[in-house]
Amino acid sequence: MADCIFCKIVAGEIPAQVVYRDEQAMAFKDIRPLMTHHYLLIPTRHIATVNDADDANQAELGRLFVAAGKVAREQGFADQGYRLVCNTNRDAGQEVFHIHLHMFAGKGMGWPPF
Ligand code: 5GP
Ligand code: ZN
Repeated sequence: MADCIFCKIVAGEIPAQVVYRDEQAMAFKDIRPLMTHHYLLIPTRHIATVNDADDANQAELGRLFVAAGKVAREQGFADQGYRLVCNTNRDAGQEVFHIHLHMFAGKGMGWPPF
Protein backbone atom coordinates (compact mmCIF):
# COMPACT_ATOMS: atom_id res chain seq x y z
CA MET A 1 0.00 0.00 0.00
CA ALA A 2 1.52 3.25 -1.20
CA ASP A 3 0.74 5.49 1.75
CA CYS A 4 1.09 2.98 4.55
CA ILE A 5 3.88 3.69 7.03
CA PHE A 6 4.16 0.02 8.06
CA CYS A 7 4.38 -1.15 4.44
CA LYS A 8 7.26 1.32 4.10
CA ILE A 9 8.95 -0.25 7.11
CA VAL A 10 8.50 -3.71 5.51
CA ALA A 11 10.05 -2.37 2.29
CA GLY A 12 12.97 -0.80 4.18
CA GLU A 13 11.98 2.71 3.06
CA ILE A 14 11.55 3.87 6.67
CA PRO A 15 14.03 2.68 9.31
CA ALA A 16 12.88 0.64 12.29
CA GLN A 17 14.52 -1.30 15.10
CA VAL A 18 13.59 -4.75 13.84
CA VAL A 19 13.67 -7.61 16.35
CA TYR A 20 12.07 -10.33 14.21
CA ARG A 21 11.40 -10.97 10.55
CA ASP A 22 10.20 -13.84 8.39
CA GLU A 23 8.32 -14.02 5.10
CA GLN A 24 4.93 -13.36 6.65
CA ALA A 25 5.55 -11.37 9.81
CA MET A 26 7.80 -8.71 11.24
CA ALA A 27 8.35 -7.18 14.69
CA PHE A 28 9.98 -3.86 15.53
CA LYS A 29 10.16 -1.41 18.41
CA ASP A 30 7.36 1.11 18.71
CA ILE A 31 8.68 4.61 17.95
CA ARG A 32 6.86 5.99 21.04
CA PRO A 33 7.26 3.16 23.57
CA LEU A 34 4.71 3.10 26.39
CA MET A 35 6.65 0.52 28.41
CA THR A 36 10.18 -0.86 28.78
CA HIS A 37 9.34 -3.39 26.09
CA HIS A 38 6.91 -2.19 23.42
CA TYR A 39 7.04 -3.92 20.04
CA LEU A 40 4.70 -3.99 17.08
CA LEU A 41 4.04 -7.26 15.26
CA ILE A 42 2.72 -6.90 11.74
CA PRO A 43 1.95 -9.07 8.73
CA THR A 44 4.36 -8.18 5.90
CA ARG A 45 1.35 -8.02 3.56
CA HIS A 46 -0.99 -5.06 3.98
CA ILE A 47 -4.27 -5.71 5.80
CA ALA A 48 -5.89 -2.52 7.10
CA THR A 49 -7.89 -3.77 10.09
CA VAL A 50 -9.19 -6.98 11.61
CA ASN A 51 -12.44 -6.24 9.77
CA ASP A 52 -10.56 -6.64 6.49
CA ALA A 53 -9.02 -10.02 7.34
CA ASP A 54 -10.39 -12.97 5.44
CA ASP A 55 -9.65 -16.66 4.91
CA ALA A 56 -6.71 -15.85 2.65
CA ASN A 57 -5.00 -14.09 5.59
CA GLN A 58 -5.25 -16.99 8.01
CA ALA A 59 -1.64 -18.13 7.77
CA GLU A 60 -0.02 -14.73 8.15
CA LEU A 61 -2.29 -13.71 11.02
CA GLY A 62 -1.54 -16.96 12.82
CA ARG A 63 2.12 -16.23 12.17
CA LEU A 64 1.83 -13.06 14.26
CA PHE A 65 1.24 -15.15 17.37
CA VAL A 66 4.05 -17.58 16.55
CA ALA A 67 6.33 -14.56 16.05
CA ALA A 68 5.11 -13.04 19.33
CA GLY A 69 6.19 -16.13 21.25
CA LYS A 70 9.59 -16.08 19.58
CA VAL A 71 10.10 -12.38 20.37
CA ALA A 72 9.02 -12.91 23.99
CA ARG A 73 11.52 -15.75 24.44
CA GLU A 74 14.34 -13.93 22.65
CA GLN A 75 13.78 -10.70 24.58
CA GLY A 76 13.62 -12.63 27.86
CA PHE A 77 10.14 -11.85 29.19
CA ALA A 78 8.20 -14.93 28.06
CA ASP A 79 7.90 -16.34 31.58
CA GLN A 80 7.17 -13.07 33.39
CA GLY A 81 4.44 -12.31 30.88
CA TYR A 82 3.32 -9.76 28.37
CA ARG A 83 0.24 -8.32 26.75
CA LEU A 84 -0.81 -8.34 23.09
CA VAL A 85 -3.25 -5.64 21.98
CA CYS A 86 -4.86 -5.13 18.58
CA ASN A 87 -6.65 -1.78 18.28
CA THR A 88 -9.37 -1.71 15.65
CA ASN A 89 -10.95 1.49 14.34
CA ARG A 90 -11.99 4.62 16.19
CA ASP A 91 -13.23 3.40 19.56
CA ALA A 92 -10.00 1.49 20.14
CA GLY A 93 -7.85 4.40 18.94
CA GLN A 94 -6.30 2.75 15.88
CA GLU A 95 -3.92 5.25 14.24
CA VAL A 96 -2.05 3.11 11.73
CA PHE A 97 -4.31 1.18 9.37
CA HIS A 98 -2.11 -1.86 8.84
CA ILE A 99 -2.97 -4.63 11.30
CA HIS A 100 -0.55 -4.79 14.21
CA LEU A 101 -0.31 -6.38 17.60
CA HIS A 102 1.18 -4.19 20.29
CA MET A 103 3.39 -6.25 22.58
CA PHE A 104 3.86 -4.80 26.06
CA ALA A 105 6.17 -6.23 28.71
CA GLY A 106 8.41 -5.23 31.56
CA LYS A 107 6.05 -4.64 34.47
CA GLY A 108 2.79 -5.84 35.96
CA MET A 109 -0.24 -4.48 34.12
CA GLY A 110 -3.74 -3.80 35.37
CA TRP A 111 -6.96 -5.27 34.09
CA PRO A 112 -9.32 -4.10 32.71
CA PRO A 113 -7.21 -1.80 30.52
CA PHE A 114 -9.86 0.95 30.11
P1 5GP B 1 -2.38 2.16 16.97
O1 5GP B 1 -2.94 3.30 17.74
O2 5GP B 1 -2.67 2.28 15.49
O3 5GP B 1 -2.75 0.83 17.54
O4 5GP B 1 -0.82 2.25 17.18
C1 5GP B 1 0.10 2.64 16.21
C2 5GP B 1 1.48 2.60 16.84
O5 5GP B 1 2.43 2.77 15.81
C3 5GP B 1 1.72 3.71 17.87
O6 5GP B 1 2.06 3.13 19.13
C4 5GP B 1 2.87 4.51 17.28
O7 5GP B 1 3.79 4.95 18.25
C5 5GP B 1 3.51 3.53 16.32
N1 5GP B 1 4.14 4.13 15.16
C6 5GP B 1 3.59 5.07 14.34
N2 5GP B 1 4.46 5.41 13.37
C7 5GP B 1 5.58 4.65 13.57
C8 5GP B 1 6.83 4.53 12.88
O8 5GP B 1 7.11 5.20 11.88
N3 5GP B 1 7.73 3.65 13.39
C9 5GP B 1 7.45 2.90 14.49
N4 5GP B 1 8.42 2.05 14.89
N5 5GP B 1 6.30 2.97 15.15
C10 5GP B 1 5.37 3.84 14.71
ZN1 ZN C 1 0.50 -1.45 5.10
